[in-house]
Amino acid sequence: MHVLVVGGAGYIGSHMVKLLVQRGFEVTVLDNLSTGHRDAVVEGAQFVLGDLFERDIMEEACRECRFDGVIHFASYIQVGESVREPAKYYRNNVFKTQNLLDVLVARRVNNFIFSSTAAIFGEPVRIPIDEEHPKLPINPYGRGKWMVEQILEDYDTAYGLKSVCLRYFNAAGADPEGQLGERHDPETHLIPLVLQAASGRQPHITVFGQDYDTPDGTCIRDYIHINDLCEAHLLALQRLWDGADSTVYNLGNGNGFSVQEVIETAHAVTGRDIPVHYGERRPGDPARLVADSRKAKAELAWEPRYADLATIIAHAWQWETRS
Ligand code: UDP
Repeated sequence: MHVLVVGGAGYIGSHMVKLLVQRGFEVTVLDNLSTGHRDAVVEGAQFVLGDLFERDIMEEACRECRFDGVIHFASYIQVGESVREPAKYYRNNVFKTQNLLDVLVARRVNNFIFSSTAAIFGEPVRIPIDEEHPKLPINPYGRGKWMVEQILEDYDTAYGLKSVCLRYFNAAGADPEGQLGERHDPETHLIPLVLQAASGRQPHITVFGQDYDTPDGTCIRDYIHINDLCEAHLLALQRLWDGADSTVYNLGNGNGFSVQEVIETAHAVTGRDIPVHYGERRPGDPARLVADSRKAKAELAWEPRYADLATIIAHAWQWETRS
């Protein structure tokens, strides 16, 4: 089986590529390296430098290889930036994705796995968040992802393109073997920033808001290990290969941890002091996001292997302190 991984040089994509190569799949990565890293693509995968605006490159890749499935990670991911620069987000995350889909439909490449997000739900009306929860995204990032989910539904109806949308909660951690990890620039995610404060690469971590309606006043999120996420992608793809219909899954551990708890766990894991500053709320952050992933567990037989927050942080720490 040959899988095209779009955005395979990025954080989640590079872990996915490693998993696929390890499991014996043929893998081609398409990435424009705008945020990804060429050296994050493990040996054994083919690499094509290209942007989703370049239809000819995608067509050539599809002509040369007969892809059995496509996993699409290429996307901008910063909520705050999406509010300041919506054009960038709609162009990259929506229109370029449509470009990719049109090439796939024209070339009759089926079986598409899409990186969606908890941000499509907006401010939750109930916790935990199941697949049917209302979709009321409150920023261009979440709106763009929800648009693509709807495009995929229409492309299935009209063109028979089969897809699975995976709504990630908070992807975190790193390759347990220490080969890959999170390398965003700038880094905006909590766990790597907390660990940079622990290692001394950052002077401190700023906690965004202490007055949320949560037990300790800081925001609660559902952190899910990157390898568990990748396993879910593979299971979803295999389900499509088995002939299943298009569907969607929410992916998280079902456990919420506050920002304060993440910092305390990081302190316990690293044994380092973590200087903490308390700042204003970050606009657009819901108080609490926790997934109901029972559907993925039931239909995909997906079981997170690294559900423990300390393990997630330990793997990220191994990456942060690599030499
Ligand atoms: N957060 C924080 N300080 C930071 C970065 C994040 O307090 O420097 C908080 C943020 O407000 C949110 C949680 O940590 O409640 C997780 O944020 P992250 O950006 O990692 O992921 P998101 O939930 O936005 O996808």
